[in-house]
Amino acid sequence: MPSGSTVTNHDSLPKVPNLPLTKKRRTSVRELHGLPESKSAPGQCLFPTLPLELLAEILIQTNSPRDVLSVARASKLLCSTLVCNPAADFIWRTIRKRCLPHALPEPTPNFSEAAYAAFVYDGGSCDVCKKDTKEFYASFATRIRLCRDSRCKKNIKRYLMDVTTIFKGHARDEIWIPYVESTHCFDLNIDKAWPENPTILMRKSEWERFRADYAAFSALSPPPSEGLRKACTDQIAKFPKVMELAVALQKWKCTYVTMHHTIKTKNETWAKALATQEGWNEHDLLNSQSYGSLHRHKNHVLEEVTLRVLPSVVLSDFLSIKPLVETQLLKMQTHRQNKENEASYRQRRDDVEQYYNRLRSAGTVVPSLYEFRKLSVMTTMQGSVTGSRPNSSGLAKDMKNSALVAELVAADLKTWMASAREKLSELLGFPKWRNASKTKLHPLDRITARFRCQGCGKVAKRYEKERCLDFAGVCAHECPSDDKKDKRPMDWSVDRFVKDEKASNAVARLLTLVGITDEDANAYNTVKMLGAHIRCLSCEHAFIVMDFPTLIGHSHRHDNMQAAILPKGEGPERAFAAGLSAKLMDMGSKPQKLRSEANYRCRHCVPAGESADASMDGEGRVSTGEPIAKDSHTEDSQTGNQKRRQRNKKSKLRSMDFNALRSHLKGLHGIEMVSDEDFFARP
Ligand SMILES: [Zn+2]
Ligand SMILES: [Zn+2]
Ligand SMILES: [Zn+2]
Ligand SMILES: [Zn+2]
Repeated sequence: MPSGSTVTNHDSLPKVPNLPLTKKRRTSVRELHGLPESKSAPGQCLFPTLPLELLAEILIQTNSPRDVLSVARASKLLCSTLVCNPAADFIWRTIRKRCLPHALPEPTPNFSEAAYAAFVYDGGSCDVCKKDTKEFYASFATRIRLCRDSRCKKNIKRYLMDVTTIFKGHARDEIWIPYVESTHCFDLNIDKAWPENPTILMRKSEWERFRADYAAFSALSPPPSEGLRKACTDQIAKFPKVMELAVALQKWKCTYVTMHHTIKTKNETWAKALATQEGWNEHDLLNSQSYGSLHRHKNHVLEEVTLRVLPSVVLSDFLSIKPLVETQLLKMQTHRQNKENEASYRQRRDDVEQYYNRLRSAGTVVPSLYEFRKLSVMTTMQGSVTGSRPNSSGLAKDMKNSALVAELVAADLKTWMASAREKLSELLGFPKWRNASKTKLHPLDRITARFRCQGCGKVAKRYEKERCLDFAGVCAHECPSDDKKDKRPMDWSVDRFVKDEKASNAVARLLTLVGITDEDANAYNTVKMLGAHIRCLSCEHAFIVMDFPTLIGHSHRHDNMQAAILPKGEGPERAFAAGLSAKLMDMGSKPQKLRSEANYRCRHCVPAGESADASMDGEGRVSTGEPIAKDSHTEDSQTGNQKRRQRNKKSKLRSMDFNALRSHLKGLHGIEMVSDEDFFARP
């Protein structure tokens, strides 16, 4: 096939059926088949059924082939009336001669009028980035289209081939397939058009095809076939016409672009003046639905927004939509104001949160953030979305630096806490506690002061190990909402808390072992210093040791936990690793790897008398300060248990990955929450 196909391509029809129809209404079958019209139903659009003369009268007023294209694409009926109908050609022709900025050049004979309009006005995909664009062809002869992206303008060179030197200056006489018609196509600064333009730029793909045809056509032996000779001579004959049209279109496009620019500037100036005159926001005006679309449409059809000149009628398009524009502008203003208010409110809330976090990290006992916002000074600071403090600038600074704010907050916190302290002290058995001593701790500040929430039974992350709350924890406690939609926490109430007897008693018993009381200000440091030397005697079956915070959590496993303190230097062979379980429970990629290693063993499966490696007599070294509390098991069940343990000993002593360990602890020992004392990791 000779490369002539590129020229015959010019006969392409407008892409009517491929485009989405802009109007959904179906043309009735009756109309298509030329049946007599029935009485039209109300609301039915009569436009497509207009006689051609009237349709022409209307369309010619538009002065825009682009508009006629849109109408033709609105329905099958309109398409057949306007496109597939030689009688309608006069419409296209008339408009083509009257369109802006000036008449389009005559098409070459291969174009129908409709196809020509589509060729000039339709957009298409960019030859570089392949994205759709409404831009005209960059080169009409080669049908290269570029979007507005400057990178595409730069990169088009990769698709082009400069063959000027290959033909040693004779290219213009010897090449007969369309090449880039003007230097202006890709460089607005140079304007040399065919035939003067000395540079011959071709699409690379077309060059390849042309080269083959050219060689065959100009060869003396074998002489070119009849088919090739005819195809080539046809193209050679058409070539100047194609190039002439391309050059003329290029010039037309240039005028169009200039006029578009002028009109756009004029319309913008007018809009600006209008906005100033009416006291409107210019940006809003251009973005308002009614005026904005009018403005853009006018730019598109190269008309000024101000006036439309009909024969003898001067009418402002704008005046008719002015009330609508005003309503829309007002709406936009309100919308913007609301958004500003919301942003400012959010900012103030953030400022309060920051202030809260500062207080908290300084060690102040504070309620949860949710409750903190309810303090009267914070309510005033935050204001509301539409409320009295719309201006947020400087609030953060005020809060940070103002001594007054600090004082007010302290006073509010004190009031908030007074009743809580009263009530909680009562729970601990010290109603109306007053004491002059400076060394005796307030009951709420003692390490035996442990509470739990009856409402949810949950604790915040930092109390996970202890699984109960101290006074600060009670204040900051938040019961999560049951409502899945409303994520707001439930309102705090001191009535929801009770004394955690198990934990409190276990701590008290430990203090007895150490020989101090909970009133001692040093009590906490003393028990902390014990390290992992506390053994649970209630876990008779195994050698379970732990540190003080773990003891508080562990105490919940027994009704009446008994403990012993191991002498310094003694303990299980595999040391207690504080924080190991928390680290493994952490959802991260590193813990994930650690979890999957088969590296963990259950301490509960190592009988009390043996160490993990069956080489240590743990029992012998325990210093029992208190008598061991006996389990309520009968002899029978104990021997049964022992037998089972023996049987399972081998399998249970194996190393497991962390998840297997968790299900082992749950299944065999009834331990739901794995804790540091339950297992050890091989080093
Ligand atoms: Zn592009
Ligand atoms: Zn709760
Ligand atoms: Zn225990
Ligand atoms: Zn076990």
